[in-house]
Amino acid sequence: MAIRLIPTELTDQERALQAQVRAFCDEHLPRGSFEPGLGMSSGPSKELSRELGRRGWLGMALPKQYGGSDRSTVDRLVVVEELLRRGAPLEQHWTADRQSGVVINRSGTEEQKRRFLPQIAAGELCFCIGMSEPDSGSDLASVQSRAVPVEGGWKLNGTKIWTSNAHFADWMICLCRTHDSDNPHQGLSQLLIDMKSPGITINPIVLLDGTADFAEVVFEDVFVPEALLLGQPGNGWEQVTSELSFERAGPERWITPVIIVENFLREHAQDLSPAAVDFLGHSVARWWGLRQVSLSVARMIDEGKAPALQAAMGKDMGTEFEQDVIATLQQLVDIEPSLHSSSLFSRLLARAVLVAPSWVIRGGTNEVLKGIIAKGLR
Ligand SMILES: Cc1cc2nc3c(=O)[nH]c(=O)nc-3n(C[C@H](O)[C@H](O)[C@H](O)COP(=O)(O)OP(=O)(O)OC[C@H]3O[C@@H](n4cnc5c(N)ncnc54)[C@H](O)[C@@H]3O)c2cc1C
Repeated sequence: MAIRLIPTELTDQERALQAQVRAFCDEHLPRGSFEPGLGMSSGPSKELSRELGRRGWLGMALPKQYGGSDRSTVDRLVVVEELLRRGAPLEQHWTADRQSGVVINRSGTEEQKRRFLPQIAAGELCFCIGMSEPDSGSDLASVQSRAVPVEGGWKLNGTKIWTSNAHFADWMICLCRTHDSDNPHQGLSQLLIDMKSPGITINPIVLLDGTADFAEVVFEDVFVPEALLLGQPGNGWEQVTSELSFERAGPERWITPVIIVENFLREHAQDLSPAAVDFLGHSVARWWGLRQVSLSVARMIDEGKAPALQAAMGKDMGTEFEQDVIATLQQLVDIEPSLHSSSLFSRLLARAVLVAPSWVIRGGTNEVLKGIIAKGLR
């Protein structure tokens, strides 16, 4: 089987949306008015999330009847590409907008859709993803967190780890074992967990740059009402694997260093070496190719296809490219990047040097993605 990507361009309508988002960024996020973030790990801003919600730029592909806009995956790509490029603080709504809303819309009950989707589209809710555990990352089917039936719902015990945004999230979609089975892919379910529930302890994990974007989350006898089971009991594996494909092919997988290169140019345009010019030419060409991959995958999703292999390939190539850009930038400049520098370029590069290794791990490691691609090509 070949991995096919169909060439596609933005339509006039999509370009008009792009122009609107650019104008919005110039008005609400002018350069110099805030410390830009690196990609999706850019910190939360409830105010910005609500403003995006008011404009109909969150939950774009969700049905109108649940507060969404009935728009397309490509429209969402256009919006997030501009915001990510600006380093906008998106963490408050990122996970909910990218995947939790889609999963609830696909697998949730009518009551769950009415309860959660309008708030997601309004930028009011922060979701986190409870998949990984201390002994279960790439091999998700080995999760040990367990929910047992009790009167009116479930009692959950276990530990999740590397949970991005757990410390300010309102809700988690948690993968846990609810039924016994000899087949590890069976007996898993997804639960919607109110992060304020009694019995939850959140222990932040500090990254090398001093930020604590993710955390360990411990559940001790946490009660989860029956109405918060998401989808079919025991069908968690199928739901979680389809959820992973929403995570993989977006611009967040290749766009993170754009803002660093942009500030490199702002500060060093006068003294570019031939090596720097060569690097810029190569990088722009690779970026454009990766953007075409994201756009093509989004278009395929809008056409009702399931381009899981293309998405895995896009993430693998995109995050490898991000590593190359950071490594090359370090060689091109004769400075020691510092988090405390007066140069924005230096601060961004310092942060990237410290956290970039995580970009090829989150959302599935590149080795695992290569395995998925290889199996798909057989
Ligand atoms: C910044 C960041 C944010 C994250 N956010 C979240 C989150 O919000 N929610 C969440 O649930 N998780 C999150 N994660 C966890 C992430 O999904 C896991 O770290 C990842 O899936 C790898 O699992 P692991 O750490 O257990 O490594 P392991 O699975 O133990 O892998 C260790 C090494 O073995 C390799 N390996 C494992 N299996 C195979 C295989 N079959 N073939 C080839 N090589 C293999 C891996 O590539 C890796 O190099 C986040 C991680 C990071 C770094």
